[in-house]
Amino acid sequence: MIVSYLCIVLGIMGSAFMIAFIGQDTRYTYAPPFTDHEMTMLFFLVVCVALAAAGVLGVIFSVVKKRQEDALQRIQNMGAEGVRKDVCPHCGLNLASGVKVCPRCGYKKEDS
Ligand SMILES: [Zn+2]
Repeated sequence: MIVSYLCIVLGIMGSAFMIAFIGQDTRYTYAPPFTDHEMTMLFFLVVCVALAAAGVLGVIFSVVKKRQEDALQRIQNMGAEGVRKDVCPHCGLNLASGVKVCPRCGYKKEDS
């Protein structure tokens, strides 16, 4: 996650620097056909843009992954009828996992 943000910051800073550099580089036209120098500068610009893009994708990916993990966590905590497995569906008492009969109300928990 931190690496992704670092990529975005470095990529944007690098891109801005390269664009400014290319803008001031009046010796070259930066139009095809490219010289080696122009190719190198454009390559660095593409690398910086790609770095920023990779950072953005990394952040999106980690957010999506986190959401999926949260959703999975919720599903795993639910029983067949959408009732939390570790809570007595009758009286709402928190039950330790593996408890078959509620110690408060005597509700018999069915194995899912
Ligand atoms: Zn109960």
